[in-house]
Amino acid sequence: MLGRLSNRIQQTKARTMTGLFVSKLFWGQLVTYTLDLIFPPQCAGCGRIDTHWCDNCQREVVEQPLPPIQNAPFPLSGIASVGIHKGKLRKAVQALKYDNERSLAQYPLGALLFTRLESLDWTIDTIIPVPLHTNRYRKRGYNQSQLLSEALAEYAMLPVITHALYRNRDTPPQVGLDSHERQRNVSGAFAANPYLVHQKNILLLDDVYTTGATMRACAEALTAAGAHQIYGLTVTVAEPN
Ligand SMILES: [Zn+2]
Repeated sequence: MLGRLSNRIQQTKARTMTGLFVSKLFWGQLVTYTLDLIFPPQCAGCGRIDTHWCDNCQREVVEQPLPPIQNAPFPLSGIASVGIHKGKLRKAVQALKYDNERSLAQYPLGALLFTRLESLDWTIDTIIPVPLHTNRYRKRGYNQSQLLSEALAEYAMLPVITHALYRNRDTPPQVGLDSHERQRNVSGAFAANPYLVHQKNILLLDDVYTTGATMRACAEALTAAGAHQIYGLTVTVAEPN
């Protein structure tokens, strides 16, 4: 009798849970659907309605030649990007960064990063995103490099550690600074947790590579914490002067 009663309770509980879950899912979908009706998604590359990223823009990006191979700044063992920071790729990065278009991290950007990574003979144990300035994180609500890392990790079936590398101090934005000023600005600004990075081959991930100052400062912190090899991957790289 007691057993039957407890079964009934379990069943009711399960039904209620399922009901709640379904209704939550239903309302979530309804909200998304309504929002899409009021504010239809727009292609970040060309503005076409009804998609976040259209096939034409994807084709255009995929057909672009790979950026020239760069010398990796010490202590990085290698550096690579998907493409030059211009055209449709630049628009996608900017929409992810400034327009809250978070789905672009998954597609097309995460997928493009995965294709690029697959073409390299790097042995990677874990992905670590370049941490964002705390003030900017508070303002933006997310770190675009973290979203890109999570998307790439899913495609590549690699772990991502978001808290292994952190900022010691906040630094003014790098925009508008020359190469020396950038290096000075971020030098010593990062630290890494030795327990999480010791002896590991790390893929440092960022959205844009400009002078390499940020990546270099991050790689120095990782090396100081005992990381084995560090590679840098970004979506775009600044056009060579
Ligand atoms: Zn488009």
